[in-house]
Amino acid sequence: MSVNRQILLRTRPEGLVGDDDFEHIEKPVPEPGEGDALIRTTWLSLDPTNRLWMREEPTYFPPVGLGEVMRGIGIGQVISSTNPELPEGAMVAGMVGWQDYILASEAMAPFTVIPEDLPVDVRHMLGVLGHTGMTAYFGLTDIGKPQPGETVVISAAAGAVGSVTGQMVKAMGARAVGLAGTAEKCRMVVEDLGFDACICYRDEDWREQLAAACPDGIDVDWESAGGEILDHMMGNMNLNGRIVICGLIAEYNDQPNKGVQNFDEVIMKRLTIGGFVVLDHMTDRGQEAVGAIAGLMAEGKIKPLETLTEGLETAPMALNRLYEGDNVGKLLIKVADPPL
Ligand code: NAP
Repeated sequence: MSVNRQILLRTRPEGLVGDDDFEHIEKPVPEPGEGDALIRTTWLSLDPTNRLWMREEPTYFPPVGLGEVMRGIGIGQVISSTNPELPEGAMVAGMVGWQDYILASEAMAPFTVIPEDLPVDVRHMLGVLGHTGMTAYFGLTDIGKPQPGETVVISAAAGAVGSVTGQMVKAMGARAVGLAGTAEKCRMVVEDLGFDACICYRDEDWREQLAAACPDGIDVDWESAGGEILDHMMGNMNLNGRIVICGLIAEYNDQPNKGVQNFDEVIMKRLTIGGFVVLDHMTDRGQEAVGAIAGLMAEGKIKPLETLTEGLETAPMALNRLYEGDNVGKLLIKVADPPL
């Protein structure tokens, strides 16, 4: 390909993103200077946080500027390089952005070289063996700390992080009870992934169903949803419970935040609430996490779950699938085959 297709953020979306919020342009493929490397994007990861980065206000990163290439995590192949750390042919993971090509020097963070002898497809470095799986690992080991026999409730249970979290909870000897948006997703996480139970949170009586599925109460809330789910969990935790604030997807599309209900329960039930950002730990403890997850995969205790789609140009609309529940497991876009 002789052009670099890029997707620029044109306006700040309100609610779900629209195609009008983006501009699709073509630029010449950049030339790497001395010591630089040119990377061809092969896979793009779609993450709920992409939507947060489009907001005006900073998150844990500065906002993506209007007119800038949309920020995105992905995998690519080094196709031309005089950087000894990024040799030609190497597959790398990092902030490729929503575009076909990027110079390593222009990425917001250094790329990670993927080992050549990886026993699974490289795309899993964006899912179970990448930031997704590591999110489950760090949130559980550092904050949730489920003990054998305890009950953990996991929202977005059939999604990328939730599906790994529930399987990891089971491997730690605790009970995994999922919350998901459809009966089919619930069936899948129980029958295919080994969760003990899963409740469809769109059912009117989901609160009663959840209570029945947790006869010994709830010790850990793995919170990926926020909104009404978090409100309910805050009011229904066991003494000394832990609430892992992994994400608040119900609130990312600028829904009015009504404030958390039942906050006094933090005192009454002596709760611990912890938030975290996986990127803070990936450099120092990435190997620890990947080693643990790869070990569980080898034992058959973690099965990767994914939804694959194709075409760079589909990225904006594909992002909405995460907000509409139109995915199971990790949502990835195939952009191209590795050219070398
Ligand atoms: P994902 O779970 O694969 O996709 C999002 C899922 O969220 C959808 O499939 C949908 O499933 C569910 N959902 C959408 N709107 C919802 C709502 N209003 N209430 C309840 N569920 C809703 O995405 P992911 O990448 O694994 O991310 C999951 C969560 O983890 C997000 O909150 C994300 O921000 C967070 N996260 C945090 C970190 C960190 O470092 N803290 C890192 C990665 C991800 P249903 O059909 O079940 O509704």
